[in-house]
Amino acid sequence: MKKFMIITIFIALHLFSGCSVETEEQAESASLPEQQMSQAAVSNKTDTPPAAEESEEHEEHIAFTLEEVEHKFGTRPGSKFLPAVAIDTDEAPEFTFTEDESDTEPLPYYKLTDNSYFFFGNIAEVDENNRGMNGNAGFVVTPDGVVVIDSLGTPKLARRIIATIRSVTDIPIRYLIVTHNHPDHAYGAISFKQIDNVDVIGHKAAIEYINSGRIEHSVAYRRTFIEPDMVEFEAVRPDIIIDVPLYEKYELKLGEYIFDIYNVGPQHSYGDLIVHDRNENILWVSDLVFNNRVTFMEDGHSKLAIQGQEWLLDNFSDVKLMIPGHGSAQTAPFPMVTKTMNYVKRMREFMAKAIDDGVDLMDAVDTAEFEDWKNVRLYGLNQRPNSNFIYREIEAEQFE
Ligand SMILES: [Zn+2]
Repeated sequence: MKKFMIITIFIALHLFSGCSVETEEQAESASLPEQQMSQAAVSNKTDTPPAAEESEEHEEHIAFTLEEVEHKFGTRPGSKFLPAVAIDTDEAPEFTFTEDESDTEPLPYYKLTDNSYFFFGNIAEVDENNRGMNGNAGFVVTPDGVVVIDSLGTPKLARRIIATIRSVTDIPIRYLIVTHNHPDHAYGAISFKQIDNVDVIGHKAAIEYINSGRIEHSVAYRRTFIEPDMVEFEAVRPDIIIDVPLYEKYELKLGEYIFDIYNVGPQHSYGDLIVHDRNENILWVSDLVFNNRVTFMEDGHSKLAIQGQEWLLDNFSDVKLMIPGHGSAQTAPFPMVTKTMNYVKRMREFMAKAIDDGVDLMDAVDTAEFEDWKNVRLYGLNQRPNSNFIYREIEAEQFE
């Protein structure tokens, strides 16, 4: 009976959102010197189903069929396109993998500075072609250890991050910083736990996510497309938990190197972190900001997102580079920050007016079309869920 109810909710949401299934994210969210810019070329080595409504659902085995999760937002089969540069470009990879590729094979990467490396993900929903490579990650090599920022979306991709690191340096990996709990950033973490002396750093809210019914749905969703790549998946509890107040930082020191890890609150997920590499003056902004992609709001708080983006512009306008969780890295004046913020503000204004005018939820969602955003990646996937979420969020704010 319970299963039937879940399916019913599922179908209802599916119809409502106007796409074939709730997506993965729903399952859970100063310029460089010329010379360095030119180094940013490709190396030659080269988010879901609905949340469980009740905690007893944990016990139940959850699985989906491919038909249930089918969507139009994956990566073109066989495509191997990588942009020539990964900074200040509107291009994005269309890069696929096959199931039989070895996990000891390095991934394509971009070298952004002497010691900062970047994995440029597809801007897409997980499917069997991109095999979960639908977000960005990277690592910084310091003399006292390698610091990895995000683990990509499967244990297998994370093993390939490790293989990539091993191909560029013998320095031990010391830390994995998981910026937030969404699959495309967090689901490779277990592969780092399997290495000696690596500490995983995460937001306090990661524990809440791991204890929620949502993770099981999210993992089941991802397995539907890429089961073999998810073998060995386990949710990872951080070894170092970031529990500082909003916009305050935890200082991670490795010898002379300092990484400031800021808590930017539950703006896009259960809890989000950004990382300032002070030595390089590079800011890994994760999903506080999106480049060439429509944001996803449903796990977060739109007011906090706007506040966080303003805080970013007020405090970090002098960084050499911002590296987002989706899309290319960017130099000042960081138009992606303003663009993401303006989208969220516009959606809030649209929905506040709809509510004021007595427009019901369904009609408001149907009419929330942003013509100038229609060609931005994942508009078709995220616009309706964002509309739906923000309408309900603003309604709820009226009772605060
Ligand atoms: Zn993401």
